[in-house]
Amino acid sequence: MLNVLNFKCDGLRKYLEENKFRGFKANQIIDWIYNKKVFDFNEMTNLSNVERKQFNDILKIELPLIEKVQKSKDGTVKFLLKLVDGNLIECVFMMYEYGNTICISTQVGCAMGCKFCASTVNGFLRNLELCELMGQILVVEKYTRKKINRIVLMGTGEPLYNYENVVTFIHEMKSKMGMSNRHITLSTCGIVPKIYDLAKEDLNINLAISLHAVSDDKRKTIMPIANKYSIDQLIEACLDYFDKTKRRISFEYLLINGINDGEDDAKSLVSLCKRSKAHVNLIPVNEINENDFKESKRLKEFYNYLLDSGVNATMRQKKGVDIDAACGQLRLSYSK
Ligand code: SF4
Repeated sequence: MLNVLNFKCDGLRKYLEENKFRGFKANQIIDWIYNKKVFDFNEMTNLSNVERKQFNDILKIELPLIEKVQKSKDGTVKFLLKLVDGNLIECVFMMYEYGNTICISTQVGCAMGCKFCASTVNGFLRNLELCELMGQILVVEKYTRKKINRIVLMGTGEPLYNYENVVTFIHEMKSKMGMSNRHITLSTCGIVPKIYDLAKEDLNINLAISLHAVSDDKRKTIMPIANKYSIDQLIEACLDYFDKTKRRISFEYLLINGINDGEDDAKSLVSLCKRSKAHVNLIPVNEINENDFKESKRLKEFYNYLLDSGVNATMRQKKGVDIDAACGQLRLSYSK
């Protein structure tokens, strides 16, 4: 039986027509699911009793199950979700003054091996399907009873290595939930050829680069992807993305004590930002047991240096510090 959440809008219409239903029934079903958060054909009151039965015979609406919820005092809610095959993923709901934001996962586990990240500790298992990407939004909106205004693809996984499903998901968010592309941010550790591809997709979403170091040698020590693509190649891809989409690039920069928080690092970061017109999002480290990385003692100094040098920089607010809100921590603690 096919899961409705795996259909694109036009695909559902076509499938229903092939099964002798009128095509507009697809719009009704989509409205119930994505706007009214009703996931049972029997509760869709503008379908006839016969239609409800017929849809139940050929289709299902299957969401990930909530395995565990952690709530922070600051309103952040972290979800551990169980997929149909029993795998676990995480997503996080956060409230900011500019709107309700969800950080979603794009893969089960991650192959990229970034040394500071809990999501990669047990390696990569598989890509998430469209229904599982959509499912995270729907489960969280239903649970919190809040409308999500912004999506960041910054949870477990490298989104550009689940390219087709992620691009389809972004298109579908726009058509099914009216999400503005400008309110979607994709974060990548720097898969250079895919950044060029993404620039051609006519999506115009925000692009965040997990940079975390400003020399290739240093980057290689914390991010294995740096062995494949240099910072120069990455910057060229970012310039191309900016040129084609006019969307601002941001660099994510974890400040790790004694690793990448020195004066020389700050100076090099300033010149990289000026070259690429990028914004910097400084992130305090979430300390995890699997490595020895500690929060920088130079957070403020580093931040002020960037500002004084004319760089557009922000310091990410720590969210959910009283729960395991860093990427991959909850899933990891559950698999022990
Ligand atoms: S930071 Fe992102 S790309 Fe790197 S290991 Fe973690 S989830 Fe994967």
